[in-house]
Amino acid sequence: EPVMEFIGVSKIYPLSSENVTALSDISLKVFSGEFIAIMGPSGSGKSTLLNMMGCLDVPSKGDVYIRGRSIKSLSDDQLTTLRRDELGFIFQQFNLIPLLNALENVRYPLILKNGMTASRERCQEILSAVGLAPALWNHRPNQLSGGQQQRVAIARSLINNPAILLCDEPTGNLDTKTGQAIMALLERLCHDEGKTIIMVTHDPKTAEYAHRVIRIEDGHIQEET
Ligand code: ADP
Ligand code: ADP
Repeated sequence: EPVMEFIGVSKIYPLSSENVTALSDISLKVFSGEFIAIMGPSGSGKSTLLNMMGCLDVPSKGDVYIRGRSIKSLSDDQLTTLRRDELGFIFQQFNLIPLLNALENVRYPLILKNGMTASRERCQEILSAVGLAPALWNHRPNQLSGGQQQRVAIARSLINNPAILLCDEPTGNLDTKTGQAIMALLERLCHDEGKTIIMVTHDPKTAEYAHRVIRIEDGHIQEET
């Protein structure tokens, strides 16, 4: 069974001038442990597709299934729980909380789930696993390099042990060498931990880490390689 399935998904933005079809009748299956890159020109629908995969947005037509559950059938609370427990999010701009140090950034989603008993040891384990040196755990984001910040963000995305990681241009703010190190980390999470990784990128070199490329143009899937 796929971990994620789109069946006939369209997204239409009603604008006063004319409707914009951001996604047009998309059907796809994502299987456990896959590493997928989504590529396409600016405005082709990549962000809309990733938002839909992240259950941040609901289809205008069709339905999205996460591990067999129709997102249309879920209440807002159930969707929030599903997003928290099944999905991890990694962004180009890292999106860390500036006033919290690295460890507390990773702990934050665990506090939202478990309250103030949220384990610091678990955060330390995950920070070690993503290769952030203990000397940096009490540094705030502005005291860390871009690559270090992305490691913290990846640790945060893993804290509730999601099956699927959704990555929006994860190397977009990093130099080539640092970007490769981050991609190697994502590859290891896929290979060793069985994480399913779905990544939007416009960079062909970054897309080479993926096992499958979904190309999108004008809201249509062009080809899968
Ligand atoms: P990409 O990420 O590939 O650049 P997007 O998914 O952001 O593409 O956008 C796809 C299309 O949908 C574009 O034409 C864009 O202008 C339009 N669009 C995206 N978000 C909205 C929105 N919130 N309201 C109206 N139109 C939108
Ligand atoms: P990205 O760089 O991730 O592709 P975009 O620049 O496409 O981001 O979009 C940034 C935000 O603006 C998104 O949340 C998208 O939904 C929204 N957006 C994009 N196009 C439009 C539009 N034509 N009208 C309203 N919102 C839009």
